[in-house]
Amino acid sequence: MVELRTDVLVLGAGMVGVGAALHLQKRGRDVILIDRHHHAGEETSYGNGGIIECASVFPYMFPRDLGPILQYALNRTPQVRYRLADLPEFLPWLVRYFMASSPERALHSAMAELPLIRRSLIEHEELIAEAKVPELLRRTGWLKLYRSDATLAQAVRDFERARRYGVAGEVFDQKVIAAREPNLTGDFAGGVYTSAPGFTPDPGGLAKAYAVLFGRRGGRFLVGDARTLEQSGHRWRISTDEGSVTAREAVVAMGPWSDQVFRPLGYSIPLNVKRGYHIHLKANGNAVLGGPVLDADQGFLLAPMSRGIRITTGVEFANRDAPPNPVQVERALPRARALFPLGEAIEAKPWKGARPCLPDMLPVIGKASRHPGLWFDFGHQHHGLTLGPVTGRLLAEMMTGETPFADPKPFAVERFG
Ligand SMILES: Cc1cc2nc3c(=O)[nH]c(=O)nc-3n(C[C@H](O)[C@H](O)[C@H](O)COP(=O)(O)OP(=O)(O)OC[C@H]3O[C@@H](n4cnc5c(N)ncnc54)[C@H](O)[C@@H]3O)c2cc1C
Repeated sequence: MVELRTDVLVLGAGMVGVGAALHLQKRGRDVILIDRHHHAGEETSYGNGGIIECASVFPYMFPRDLGPILQYALNRTPQVRYRLADLPEFLPWLVRYFMASSPERALHSAMAELPLIRRSLIEHEELIAEAKVPELLRRTGWLKLYRSDATLAQAVRDFERARRYGVAGEVFDQKVIAAREPNLTGDFAGGVYTSAPGFTPDPGGLAKAYAVLFGRRGGRFLVGDARTLEQSGHRWRISTDEGSVTAREAVVAMGPWSDQVFRPLGYSIPLNVKRGYHIHLKANGNAVLGGPVLDADQGFLLAPMSRGIRITTGVEFANRDAPPNPVQVERALPRARALFPLGEAIEAKPWKGARPCLPDMLPVIGKASRHPGLWFDFGHQHHGLTLGPVTGRLLAEMMTGETPFADPKPFAVERFG
């Protein structure tokens, strides 16, 4: 078999890899996108809540108040659970996460990511227009419901803080909630509605549509295992179903599996995962859900996907490959049924995924410090659907010597020593 040659190999065809591949291609690079699956968007980029979170200015940091920390420690909250058997392994990471969540450092993370968050929907809009899939973006905004006065008051304070960074929205009372989402039932203290976020009813389909656009423009998609990547002189070589491929440059964009490439190369980057689950159910009768709704105090999201109403859960701290424990789905189901008229489940068992996270909740974007031609683009935590295209732009600008639209320093791998 002849050896294929290209300019750049992008490893991983989730929203992040596809976003990087498209932006490199736009800048004249010949790109080959590699995944272990035959299609793009089959993993985390498939299973998320579908929200393009351009109003989420403040990342999800570790709580600093004793009350929530104690509640999490008891392992009883619906928002966060942990797998006791894995605790010794991820405890050091949790300590780093806690340290990175001090008010000053959390603000630093938020401000570093702000230019990306602000551009996130614009980048999706451009790609959606180019891919000709307008049906994959809905202008729903995002409604978050609170059942207690205390949690609503905290949410309103957070919202007021976000407002200072240009986030638009409203605080809803029970009546306005009912007018907006007439099929919801419950006793709510109130809700916070942000109007800007976009919603895709098929996140995996969106990644696939972008991959089709990449292919239409001459990009190639090959099936291969990124663990076969090796340096060969000044080039990078990988084995694929179509034989071996070499490139001057390679981008690691394998989300929660990115360690499979960086660890053997000697990088000890603190990439961890926050796992999450989803399941789809049919809506009963003519019941319609207008857009994504977070039941914040009960720790789940309802999202009106093309496939059905998707219930996504909060965070589970467990090793990426540990067996699933869908207890958060089981607990959410009766509560979700009380919130919205839901019928039978569409799948036999819940889907499990993993949000790829660094302790400071910022992705790693930029050059691999010790390997010329190797680039990183992973760790997009809770916001990888949102940030895939915009971080693809940032990376491509860095790789092609353009002036980056945002300061890339906070995302450099060197921040981990
Ligand atoms: C329950 C849940 C809800 C979420 N909700 C939202 C939301 O509403 N909005 C939002 O913005 N984000 C959300 N997220 C986060 C978001 O889904 C992720 O941040 C994002 O999908 C990460 O994208 P990625 O491309 O980095 O990873 P992935 O989509 O996982 O892609 C990685 C790719 O690498 C490939 N790969 C892995 N190993 C190899 C190998 N050895 N060889 C070749 N290929 C390999 C995989 O097959 C995969 O295609 C949510 C996440 C979860 C779990």
